[in-house]
Amino acid sequence: MNILFFGPNGSGKGTQGAILKDKYAIVHIESGAIFRDNIKGGTELGKKAKAFIDKGDLVPDDITIPMILDRLKKDDAKKGWILDGFPRNPNQSRMLHEALTAAGMKIDKVIEILLDREIAKKRIIGRRLCKNDGNHPNNIFIDAIKPSGDKCRVCGGELSTRADDQDEAAIGKRHDIYYDAKNGTLASAYYFRDLAKTDKSVAYLTLDGTKGVKEVGAELVSKL
Ligand code: AMP
Repeated sequence: MNILFFGPNGSGKGTQGAILKDKYAIVHIESGAIFRDNIKGGTELGKKAKAFIDKGDLVPDDITIPMILDRLKKDDAKKGWILDGFPRNPNQSRMLHEALTAAGMKIDKVIEILLDREIAKKRIIGRRLCKNDGNHPNNIFIDAIKPSGDKCRVCGGELSTRADDQDEAAIGKRHDIYYDAKNGTLASAYYFRDLAKTDKSVAYLTLDGTKGVKEVGAELVSKL
């Protein structure tokens, strides 16, 4: 099962992706997390990507596309994958589609979480990251996943914020890119929505992102 996951930053993609990962025993590949790991590890890739990420800009395609295509070739991706955060523009969609077709692989499901920009912004600012597991959901503005005190609600781990999550200008830029249905991430999602109209083996599903984590998860599972 190969899945593409779209949704604005703050829509709960990471959380729902983790549910899918367990359900299908496939790898959850988050482009943003790969960049953050590289930055933490001080790699060349991390050094190149950091300046773009801190400003809320996209990392250039000539860095991002090969990084993801290489990741998809690893052994743990053979049983299937969820791509989260990639593709983010129509060029990335095209390149991904072409690379998969050339490798005899295909996309089974494309999921889009629908969420209003203002709500998404508030969710990002309230998001807290667990030091032990980036997929432990914690958000100071969402009752269902409020941290316990200042610690992770799942494991009690230390919590932190992402630098680009507290910078309103950077959030605005990331959302400008996401909601751009002509050249941005929505355009890249619609590339696959169009594909699904002619290729019936590809399913394009939408989810109402305004609901709580559990409800969105239930809608997701019922639609798969
Ligand atoms: P995310 O964790 O998905 O919010 O990604 C964090 C940052 O990583 C983004 O704001 C971009 O700077 C960079 N990034 C992640 N995915 C991509 C992508 N597909 N193309 C370009 N830049 C990306």
